[in-house]
Amino acid sequence: MTDQDNALPRTVLLASPRSFCAGVERAIEMVERELDRRGAPVYVRKQIVHNTHVVNDLRERGAVFVEELAEVPNGSVVVFSAHGVAPAVHADARARGLTVVDATCPLVAKVHAEARRFATRGDTIVLIGHPGHEEVDGTLGEAPRAMVVVSTAAEVERLEVADAGKVSYLTQTTLGQDEVSEVVAALRARFPQLREPPSDDICYATTNRQNAVRAVLDEADVLLVIGSTNSSNTLRLVEMAQREGRDVHLIDGPADLDPAWLAHASTVAVTAGASAPPHLVDGVVAAIGELGPTTVTERSVIEETVRFTLPGREPTPPG
Ligand code: SF4
Repeated sequence: MTDQDNALPRTVLLASPRSFCAGVERAIEMVERELDRRGAPVYVRKQIVHNTHVVNDLRERGAVFVEELAEVPNGSVVVFSAHGVAPAVHADARARGLTVVDATCPLVAKVHAEARRFATRGDTIVLIGHPGHEEVDGTLGEAPRAMVVVSTAAEVERLEVADAGKVSYLTQTTLGQDEVSEVVAALRARFPQLREPPSDDICYATTNRQNAVRAVLDEADVLLVIGSTNSSNTLRLVEMAQREGRDVHLIDGPADLDPAWLAHASTVAVTAGASAPPHLVDGVVAAIGELGPTTVTERSVIEETVRFTLPGREPTPPG
């Protein structure tokens, strides 16, 4: 590759919607609000959202990220992440006298409520998701004896349930639409009386970002997906492009951009996962602009208007 290769005129197609969703914005605002009100340190259980830039920025401002509640001093305030937690974690916090600020996304909380309801009516609940992901652990904790986690259609064949007439399913909010459709089809084939959630559990932000990528893929020589490697909705965007055989690169920010990827690319599509800050997109577009003349075009499939209000704090338990 020569400098001349890289200096060719390029079009940058910005897939829209991209970047922060309402649940991520709310969760970050909740940590910032605690830092403003109380000052450092503010304890946060797990990464507030799955993005290294967000976590590092908040850490610099005084947030202390811990893996488990045991690391939080008694009597402190602790923020629970956007991915949600199991009821046992709430109980543990109460027992420890911690004041909880629960930043669970309302759309994750909706899935928790469905899990409780389905379990109460005696269903075996198939939770479609990735084992070990924090959101899956939290949802599973709502009804651990009634729930089983499945991530592929092949696993459906091996499922053992108490009553094939009483099976329902839920999904992690950040899955690929295609992968869920395959698993649901396998469940329906095996359990014809399968009961569905009242509305799609894959959230609006995940769906919109996938549709936006779909809309630019055919035109793009290369797709750049901005986000961290532990971000589920971000990884699904990468997989979508890979399934179509496209040239795709996952980057955490502008510093990861390798000019060699763009050597022969006249059209570069750019998107960002729901936990990646918008300023990273600006930085990546600027970095592409440094390689040669660039025209930036926005490609929007839908305008997002969803906003979540900030909740109050849980009262400090007596004693
Ligand atoms: Fe909520 Fe969806 Fe954002 Fe997750 S990706 S925080 S479920 S809006």
